[in-house]
Amino acid sequence: MNRISIIGAGIGGLTAALALHDVGAHVTVYEQAKHLTDEGAGIQIAPNASRILCHLGLRHVLAADAVAASTSAYRHYRTGAVLKINDPSESVRRTGFPYWRIHRADLQRALVSALARRAPDALHLGWQVLAVETGSDNVSLVFSNGQRVTSDLVVAADGIRSTVRSMLFARDTPHFEGYVAWRGLVPMADLPERLRTMGGASFGGGRFIVNYAVRRGELMNFVAIARHETWEEEGWRIPSRLAELQEAFTDFHDDVQELIGHTPPDRLFKWGIFGRPRLPSWVQGRASLLGDAAHPMLPYLAQGGAMAIEDAMLLARAVANGDGHVSALQRWETARMPRVNRVSDASAAMAAMFHTDVDAYDPSRDVSAGRLPDLATFDALTAPI
Ligand SMILES: Cc1cc2nc3c(=O)[nH]c(=O)nc-3n(C[C@H](O)[C@H](O)[C@H](O)COP(=O)(O)OP(=O)(O)OC[C@H]3O[C@@H](n4cnc5c(N)ncnc54)[C@H](O)[C@@H]3O)c2cc1C
Repeated sequence: MNRISIIGAGIGGLTAALALHDVGAHVTVYEQAKHLTDEGAGIQIAPNASRILCHLGLRHVLAADAVAASTSAYRHYRTGAVLKINDPSESVRRTGFPYWRIHRADLQRALVSALARRAPDALHLGWQVLAVETGSDNVSLVFSNGQRVTSDLVVAADGIRSTVRSMLFARDTPHFEGYVAWRGLVPMADLPERLRTMGGASFGGGRFIVNYAVRRGELMNFVAIARHETWEEEGWRIPSRLAELQEAFTDFHDDVQELIGHTPPDRLFKWGIFGRPRLPSWVQGRASLLGDAAHPMLPYLAQGGAMAIEDAMLLARAVANGDGHVSALQRWETARMPRVNRVSDASAAMAAMFHTDVDAYDPSRDVSAGRLPDLATFDALTAPI
């Protein structure tokens, strides 16, 4: 039986644990956090990702916490005029799988529970990986608690500031992408009725804000992004003052003002968006990166987590093929890279679109629809590896 160590109990690591367990691997997940908290914000799960989560048996538990995406609008930042209506139901109809909007913590909790049911001892909290040593027969992890663990494969799903990436692949310096972002969660009960059903994005003047309901409709999640010259600190848990956000979006239409104005002070965070150079390979011997550690991308297409989920499913299928560990990782990488790079490029193109002149916006040239017709319909359960 394959012994596979997974670093990180985020979206990618936990999905990989479930998918690899289901193809017969013995998985252990090492997460540096001592407790999994209610951190994070909303995340959209398009059918390309929900197809996999349903396959892993999570349909009912996720449907109970998520909000099914409905039509939403792109609006002009000053006037509020509707520029385009987005209808996610088309991809739902075409695939037969849901388009969910969910709190990241609710998704993580569902993944953790599903893993605990399959393999009660698989998740190790408070285990921080310090080093990875790849050999020809096995691969070892060294932890901050002094432990050392050997396995057949290591999957490093340790997120955007991946230790393993910098150790094994590149000591690349993150570059500031020129955007600063805020995220907030507003209790739905605090919002006037009119704003409770309002989901969508408003953009223009070098800024962009998207909002949608999560957690059974109890919270309104928003992410606001503005162009910015410089930024010092990476990380997305920096508390922000509401006045700072309001000042940055002062000329946005009334619905935006009212929405952000209701943000509780302890539920507003800001961060600078940093990028990393694209890696030529994610695999080294018996170790591989997965998810944000391998391919961080801008959040404009709402697909970073979905790519981690797709990675996980295809990796499990490659391992199940049984032609050896190293070759499984290599076939997986070859299968994944073109799609991930296309999605990442489209996300960057969306960023450019949202931050250029809104008055020149042409809905027919929307990159998500045009460049990636299979974005939401991609089937990781059957795609060739
Ligand atoms: C504002 C914003 C909005 C987004 N919206 C969407 C969306 O709508 N849809 C979507 O699909 N994606 C979205 N994304 C992207 C998505 O959140 C990420 O792509 C996704 O969380 C990546 O998952 P991951 O498992 O690779 O990393 P993470 O979820 O970041 O998990 C990494 C884990 O590794 C652990 N770890 C780190 N280092 C170590 C170590 N040394 N030892 C042990 N454990 C370690 C961390 O504690 C963490 O738990 C958004 C991102 C942002 C910033």
